[in-house]
Amino acid sequence: MTGQTMQAWAVDRPGPIGSHPLVRIERAIPEPGSGQVRVRVRACGVCRTDLHLAEGDLDPKRHLVIPGHEVVGIVERLGEGCGRFSEGDRIGVPWLAAACGRCRFCIAGRENLCLAPQFRGWDIDGGYADVVVVDEAFAYHLPDAFSDQEAAPLLCAGIIGYRALRRAKLPPGGRLGIYGFGGSAHLTAQIAIAEGARVHVLTRSDEAKTLALELGAASVGGASDAPPEPLDAAIMFAPVGTLIPPALEALDRGGCLAIAGIYLTDVPALNYERHLFEERALCSVTANTRQDGIEFLELAARIPVRVSTTPYSMNQANEALVDLADDRVNGAAVLLNEPAL
Ligand SMILES: [Zn+2]
Ligand SMILES: [Zn+2]
Repeated sequence: MTGQTMQAWAVDRPGPIGSHPLVRIERAIPEPGSGQVRVRVRACGVCRTDLHLAEGDLDPKRHLVIPGHEVVGIVERLGEGCGRFSEGDRIGVPWLAAACGRCRFCIAGRENLCLAPQFRGWDIDGGYADVVVVDEAFAYHLPDAFSDQEAAPLLCAGIIGYRALRRAKLPPGGRLGIYGFGGSAHLTAQIAIAEGARVHVLTRSDEAKTLALELGAASVGGASDAPPEPLDAAIMFAPVGTLIPPALEALDRGGCLAIAGIYLTDVPALNYERHLFEERALCSVTANTRQDGIEFLELAARIPVRVSTTPYSMNQANEALVDLADDRVNGAAVLLNEPAL
């Protein structure tokens, strides 16, 4: 410990976001251990997972954990044996904070399914803070094309959406349905469109519909509307289980629906003939591999994707989460630390 302190937000008692389950805390600034770097946080994206954690839909792994897993910051101190980054580098810190490297999934290149993983802002402290300590092997170099505010949502919303797109097995030039259109969906849609897909967006938000059309969606409709043509693939971004039956019904023969979120309300009973027969498939997405992140960041910079963000001061974490819960955020909410004086 340095003797100096930092400010952060921590989950005290999970509950409705209106009851402000996050509390402001002061902690000693941590020293990076072997293989770790300490990062001065410039920006941290607000992910729906943070909301699920604050509200208790996801059980906190420990009391007073600091949320935040879309962290952009500057390396300010290297632990022993570090060589990947230098002091002063701008890096990105994502959801997957550690994988064991030894289990059958890690060995098979599927570290997102690791049996003993650690997740940033759930198992270990995240970026709703002045500084964060990370294993350098699980951080990313960031493309210069994006500002801090733009880069933050790429680190979960972007990468998870990218994995969901690959899991949905959209054929080249295929028809993709996107259910819910927030921070993750608006990035995924741009990747799909750049790769030649026709994208149909189903969402209840009028602002999101406008953004979807601006970004090149072929059509927009209400959350549970039928798209104008059968879908080869679909991605469920809305955490709403009752949308699964209409989304499955919208699939063409052989189509696949991928569920992108870590949390979904209960799925109602399905009818085999209407929802699954004719080789329609339903699959989930769990975290991501580091390789997913590298591929996505490279692709995002090459296109380049337009990142729609709403900035908040780091002091306004509760406000940002309330706005997210009430569907008032267009694109992705990002918390910004004031530049150090
Ligand atoms: Zn493992
Ligand atoms: Zn996330």
